[in-house]
Amino acid sequence: MIKEDILKDINYWARRAYSARMTPATSGNISRFEEDIIFMSRSGVCLGDMGNEDVSELNINGDLLNGIKPSSEKLMHLEIYKKRPDIKAVIHIHCPYTTSFAVCHKEMNEPILPEFIYNFGTVPSAKYALPSSMELAQEVSGYFSNGHNAVLMQNHGLVAGGKTLKEVFYHLESIQAYAKTYFAAKFLGKIHKLNKDEIKKINDLKG
Ligand code: 13P
Ligand code: ZN
Repeated sequence: MIKEDILKDINYWARRAYSARMTPATSGNISRFEEDIIFMSRSGVCLGDMGNEDVSELNINGDLLNGIKPSSEKLMHLEIYKKRPDIKAVIHIHCPYTTSFAVCHKEMNEPILPEFIYNFGTVPSAKYALPSSMELAQEVSGYFSNGHNAVLMQNHGLVAGGKTLKEVFYHLESIQAYAKTYFAAKFLGKIHKLNKDEIKKINDLKG
């Protein structure tokens, strides 16, 4: 894939994430791993204002190949790519509804929506560690090693990975929808959870 297309893809999904209110102000970051190069948003950029000049290029060791200072969460992106070779795209967000779960140290595991059970089962909550630290990168990437594609970061936000940025964006949108539905349902009345048999039938659809 030519570099122009990669930059276009990153800028497009960064703006979609901002427009979907996933990354207020300069929060969040985005990257793609393509042919040994990691293309990553620079530190301090608003994802709604991303342009080609806001994308840095790194190797898997984190050495800067092109551009300016990459995201402060570069270690987290790198550790996810190192531990999960099938993952080629990562987005980290601070969506307030989703982050509320992270602030309450609450996993997303209520069996309330078939689509969520089918796609995620549980979105776990990684122990708090200082933003940008290797400790945070290790905590979060450990869950990716165990097969999770989305992880809450306590008192911080959420990170998801996938084969493409489009896939990652849809993961994030589904998780955001779960969070909003959960809050509205709590307000409205008693939440009815699906039972074990219903959950099994949903998981059996995977074949
Ligand atoms: P960066 O602008 O350095 O990517 O930081 C944003 C963020 O969300 C840190 O956790
Ligand atoms: Zn963050």
